Amino acid sequence: MSAPIRVGIGYDSHRFVAGHGVVLGGVLIPATVRCTGHSDADPACHALTDALLGAAGLGDIGEMFPDTAAENKDRDSIEMLRLAVARVRAAGWAPVQCDLTVIAETPKVGAHRPAIRERLGEALGIPASEVMIKGKTNEGMGFIGRGEGIACMAVATLARLTP
Ligand code: MG
Repeated sequence: MSAPIRVGIGYDSHRFVAGHGVVLGGVLIPATVRCTGHSDADPACHALTDALLGAAGLGDIGEMFPDTAAENKDRDSIEMLRLAVARVRAAGWAPVQCDLTVIAETPKVGAHRPAIRERLGEALGIPASEVMIKGKTNEGMGFIGRGEGIACMAVATLARLTP
């Protein structure tokens, strides 16, 4: 018999190129860089999507949205997150809560936290109070420290839907 609560973990990273802002959790944060990737390259949405799929035992974001598929080019990551939530719910699980950590030297997340919590909560079908996002630097170390990119970690909890 499996437990009525499941926990999943997700991680994602993206390279920076010159641009006009970083999309995090569906919110555009003004910056002198942007993330590059096949979709719209939102590391918060991607890490969270993997955490949800992982908790439900449904594989990962790469299987659900292959980066070789034309329909995923420049795709809105909030839409991908919504589709993953629908799949999770269809498998009998409901998102309860999630917690994210963004690791980057810039941009800073703090001022955008309320907007990101709202946006992710809406996509998951849970109140913003059940979504947390935190920003960290990497203390100048490694690819993040050199400002080459950004990483995000996410943990999500699911509860079994009663039939
Ligand atoms: Mg990604």
